[in-house]
Amino acid sequence: MDILNLTLPELTIELKEKYNKNRYHAEAIYREVFRHGNTDLTQAAEFKKSGKLAEKIMNDLKVNLWPVVKMEQEDELTKFVTRSDDNLEYETVVIPMKNYKTICVSTQVGCKMGCDFCETARLGLLRNLTAAEIVGQIYYAKHVLGHNIKNIVYMGMGEPLDNFDNLIKSIDILCEDKGINFNHGNITISTVGEVEGINKLGDLNWPNIKLAISLHSAIDEKRSGIMPVNKKYNLEKLKAALKSYPLKEAGIFFIEYILIKGYNDSHEDALALIEFLKDLKVKVNLIPYNPGSGSKYDAPSYEEVNTFYQWLDEQGLVVIKRIPKGQDLMAACGQLGNQKLRETLKK
Ligand code: SAH
Repeated sequence: MDILNLTLPELTIELKEKYNKNRYHAEAIYREVFRHGNTDLTQAAEFKKSGKLAEKIMNDLKVNLWPVVKMEQEDELTKFVTRSDDNLEYETVVIPMKNYKTICVSTQVGCKMGCDFCETARLGLLRNLTAAEIVGQIYYAKHVLGHNIKNIVYMGMGEPLDNFDNLIKSIDILCEDKGINFNHGNITISTVGEVEGINKLGDLNWPNIKLAISLHSAIDEKRSGIMPVNKKYNLEKLKAALKSYPLKEAGIFFIEYILIKGYNDSHEDALALIEFLKDLKVKVNLIPYNPGSGSKYDAPSYEEVNTFYQWLDEQGLVVIKRIPKGQDLMAACGQLGNQKLRETLKK
């Protein structure tokens, strides 16, 4: 039983079929494995009277953690690279906050969205990660590295909504209250604006999940120029999807806006952004562009970021400037895209 790939109801069914045991024991397994990182079931009260059974199940229970082949540290920030059974590598970043950590997880190896400024896009899509591979990143950071993880952001490699079913399954596993017990409110899904996926997510009616939209321009031609997804779902379609999305009463969208020097940082760009956001409840994240390897764009100066910030702020928009962390490690936004893997692919 590959437990990292099983929701509690699925584990319950397997346990019934294989061992004729019920939810009581399934919950105990979920608690030991996910909450405590413990696979020795003989320690659990529920198995005290049935040591033989505990051992049988333990032999069957795989906590399939794939090897971490690289680990880098900068200040308190950790980036680790996991290698899959089929020899692909994907990256996870653990980011220090005040008293806890935020984990940035990957959902795909590579990405097919093709954003011009993004390092991961240059890989193309190699494959979707399974729910177990997504959950495994959090399990590893929490139980192997011992990080106190409070928030999960789906902002690593890949487009989460392009791997919809595994994304949702991973959230179900992580939020199971008998297990790790994350809250929807501590989870952010970041999307390029994949409208079909946004609608599907809306249909689940998960009002507490945070949704971040990578906007980067509110002018169609410019957005299409750097984000091919805009040719399929233009700003009007994106806006319509956001308008009909079931946000909770006090809910807001997080709008990510990378400032690229000379491309989307003029006063006209700011005005278009204000116009686009005027009837949406949002918080804007201004992210200075992180230059990648062989990048064709430039990062804005500190003053340019501030000027753009002022233009939005004057109009009453809630704006925060994201301080890039982990630039030295290529662990910052949009810099996840294993260089070695890319070189291998070129050959
Ligand atoms: N595919 C999803 C999630 C991954 S990217 C999405 O697009 O939202 C996470 C964030 O990093 C996105 O806002 C993305 O646009 C941003 N990003 C990508 N490349 C970047 C770069 N070079 N500099 C700064 N931010 C970047």
